[in-house]
Amino acid sequence: DDKLQYVSDSIRMVPDFPKKGILFQDITTLTRDPKALKLCVEAFVERYRGQKIDVVAGIEARGFIFGPPLAMALGVGFVPLRKPGKLPGETIGAEYQLEYGSDRIEMTVESITKGQNVVIIDDLIATGGTLGAAVQLVEKVGAKVHEAACVVELPELQGRAKLKATNVPLFVLLEKA
Ligand code: IMP
Repeated sequence: DDKLQYVSDSIRMVPDFPKKGILFQDITTLTRDPKALKLCVEAFVERYRGQKIDVVAGIEARGFIFGPPLAMALGVGFVPLRKPGKLPGETIGAEYQLEYGSDRIEMTVESITKGQNVVIIDDLIATGGTLGAAVQLVEKVGAKVHEAACVVELPELQGRAKLKATNVPLFVLLEKA
C-alpha cells in the first residue's frame, strides 16, 4: 500500500557496505524521516494491539529503535537482547553462525518469565541466524514467542525458512531484493 511504499522509499540502499559486494539497507534514513518513522511504528502497533502480548524483546542495536515505541503503545515492557558482555547480572546466551565464524546474543535471565507471550523485534532479517538465536533465548526461560517482527526481509537469504524450523511466525513490513 501507499504507506508501506513510503516507508520502503525512505530506506537508503548503500552498495559495498560494510564490505564489498553487500547492498546495505540503511534504516537511519527511515528513522530520521518523522513520517516514515511514525508509519513504521504504527504498522507494528496495529499488528499487535489487542493481542495478548506481555513483553517486547528487541535485538541490539536496531531492534532498540523500533521495540520501545511498540512496547509503550501496547502498554508492556521492553527487554534488550544484547551483544556479549553488555548485560549485568545472570545472563543466558545463544550462539549463531555467521558467514565466517559465529556470534552470540545474551539476555538477562529474569527479564522474561515462564509463560509470557513475547514479540521479538529487529530491523532486518537476512539469513535468520540472529532472530533464530533470539527465539532460543526467549524459549530457554519457558516463554512463548508470539511472533518475530522486522521492518525488512531479504527473501533471497532464506531467513524465513530458517525461522520456520522454530515454528515461530515471521511478520515483516517490507521485502527488499
Ligand atoms: P541475519 O542474522 O543474517 O538474519 O542478519 C540480520 C542481522 O544483521 C540484523 O540484526 C540486522 O540488523 C543485520 N543486517 C544484515 N544486513 C543488514 C542490512 O542490509 N541493513 C541493516 N542491517 C542488516
